[in-house]
Amino acid sequence: MHWSLAIVEDILERRKADKHVVATGITPSGDIHVGNLREIIIGDTVHSALVDQGVDARLIYVSDTFDPLRRRYAFLPAEYETHVGKPLSEIPDPQGCHASYADHFLQPFLESLDKLGIKTELLRADVLYKSGQYVDVIKEAMARQADLARILTDVSGRELPEGWSPFSPLCNACGRLTAAIVTDYDPVKDEVSYECECGNAGVASFKGGGKLAWRVDWAARWRILGITIEPFGKDHAAPGGSFDTGKQISTELYN
Ligand SMILES: [Zn+2]
Ligand SMILES: [Zn+2]
Repeated sequence: MHWSLAIVEDILERRKADKHVVATGITPSGDIHVGNLREIIIGDTVHSALVDQGVDARLIYVSDTFDPLRRRYAFLPAEYETHVGKPLSEIPDPQGCHASYADHFLQPFLESLDKLGIKTELLRADVLYKSGQYVDVIKEAMARQADLARILTDVSGRELPEGWSPFSPLCNACGRLTAAIVTDYDPVKDEVSYECECGNAGVASFKGGGKLAWRVDWAARWRILGITIEPFGKDHAAPGGSFDTGKQISTELYN
């Protein structure tokens, strides 16, 4: 039996859903190299096997365009130091040829998929956030902050910093997602108040004004997009890793 069919039989046995969503994706923080193809080829093959079995299935590719730039990589000019911490979708293209930093690295990958005949629905994380698709899961995360902190600490064994929040506000002065602390939460207006390292204080909306911590974001996305199948690197499957916390968050918070 082909391995993809074995995966399909297993998933159909364990998960009685009318519709299946196979998800893959990457953070477009630099050149997307050939190694990244493995994940999408697995997703594409499993998706084809589902369709062959007469299952209603989608293949989506989520580009993590709203992730912050982690550091100034060696290929970036010195002035990109000021962009560290900003979402990739909000940083200019270092070569000036695309609409954003994220697009510059995503576009060649999409062209490669096209050449390979892999047809996937592209979703951009910044668009998912800005269009409000995350609002409900962010509300749930803020309401269940203590449970999330317990899950992350118990399952991953890591201590969370004081004042940890599952939602990282995007500072409207310095543009960073990584420098502000949440000081208050308004469950009616769907926003938080924050104070940023840069000296600014403001309010951040759940509709594009910030982002969930990545381990929470992953489980939240399974719910928003109805994801039932997702290939990923085994680093995520290490004990206490993001898949373990994701499963627990998915079960306890996102049903
Ligand atoms: Zn470009
Ligand atoms: Zn700031």
